Amino acid sequence: MGKSTLVNRLCRSREAIVHDEPGVTRDRTYQEGFWGDRTFMVVDTGGLVFDDDSEFLPEIREQANLALAEASVAVVIVDGQQGLTPADQGIADWLRNQKVPVLLAVNKCESPEQGLAMAGEFWRLGLGEPHPVSAIHGAGTGDLLDKVIGFLPAVELLEGEEPIQLAIIGRPNVGKSSLLNAVCGEKRAIVSPIRGTTRDTIDTTLEREGKTWKLLDTAGIRRRRSVNYGPEFFGINRSFKAIERSDVCVLVIDALDGVTEQDQRLAGRIEEDGRACVVVVNKWDAIEKDSHTMPAMERELRAKLYFLDWAPMLFTSALSGQRVQAIFPLALLAVEQHRRRVTTSVVNEVLKEALSWRTPPSSRGGRQGRLYYGTQVSVRPPSFTLFVNDPKLFGDTYRRYVERQIREGLGFEGTPLRLFWRGKQERDAEKELERQQHRAR
Ligand code: GDP
Repeated sequence: MGKSTLVNRLCRSREAIVHDEPGVTRDRTYQEGFWGDRTFMVVDTGGLVFDDDSEFLPEIREQANLALAEASVAVVIVDGQQGLTPADQGIADWLRNQKVPVLLAVNKCESPEQGLAMAGEFWRLGLGEPHPVSAIHGAGTGDLLDKVIGFLPAVELLEGEEPIQLAIIGRPNVGKSSLLNAVCGEKRAIVSPIRGTTRDTIDTTLEREGKTWKLLDTAGIRRRRSVNYGPEFFGINRSFKAIERSDVCVLVIDALDGVTEQDQRLAGRIEEDGRACVVVVNKWDAIEKDSHTMPAMERELRAKLYFLDWAPMLFTSALSGQRVQAIFPLALLAVEQHRRRVTTSVVNEVLKEALSWRTPPSSRGGRQGRLYYGTQVSVRPPSFTLFVNDPKLFGDTYRRYVERQIREGLGFEGTPLRLFWRGKQERDAEKELERQQHRAR
């Protein structure tokens, strides 16, 4: 069937011995395999051989039973070139009564077009979808591994905590993979053991700063680009998706290029989606500098990244490792602020202070804006509702002033804030709506 070849491919080792002779009984062999960020044990059984009555040999069945007892998923391999045999049917009938989920791999499907046709016949086994693979060439094995991973138990988390979702975002060649390697170690960043397979998304889970982190879509980061797609193509939608899934984004900027239009689009999306953020300015080693360079450069970059003025900025070199170890502590700080709640009394102390320094504007007709009180209504990002007499009286300048005062008084570094200005009319309208709904009930 090519079982050992497939095992070798999944585990990328030369250790498993290939036996061509049917009926060779062996013990189970265990080898470590890995796919994406998951490692797992591949247990290889001796192969199921049947006697004349289509009963397979007891000692092999014993091995297979032992293997299945500890398995999360079983992969059964059949020979696509040979086609469906009574032996396959025998194995299928037996496997269907086991408690383990089963994946059906149809081997020797070297040609993708013929592969599907060859595999189609194996639907009849009643083991679900047949997966055409070529153990020799590796075709289809990536898809198979994706399915395998789906059956593995979830990564154990630190006590009862959801992992923090972190996305490393940036244009190609700013040094995302290099940073990932510098922080996690080369070994972690090896994409896949199988050549010629492209993966859609791989998330890497790791422990840092006493927390569990999920690094989103690291496949997109690690993939080596041999093709130059030009400036317009770098999968901005893929970046947008990662931002959307994240709690916190590490936006990587190339110190040599400064902030480009694409960086601005990414930054804008991070703000719009309300994600926490740390800006990392990489390739700092490649900049000629004196003691004034960093503050000057920070000013220049921030002027173009004004919508992220709340995000901490870190100057790193993935090459030398300078400051890369500060990324996780800063990201954690940002996440904590992103989830932070403050009491209504604290909010109102800050608002009172803000009002005392600067009275709200008034309309031409002399109507004075009034800010009655405020309260935090949600987190991720921290959002506040400010109750006023009429929101129209509060222009952008004053709104920005109030946000600055909140930040000055309460911190919130690393997270965007949302301020909702609600007037009496809107409150009345809401109350009226509530009343009507109540009546309708
Ligand atoms: P990615 O496309 O964002 O993942 O970027 P890579 O990590 O593949 O890096 C692109 C190029 O920039 C590679 O040639 C790296 O060696 C180089 N590079 C990455 N980080 C640094 C750095 O801190 N300093 C210097 N001088 N070069 C870097």
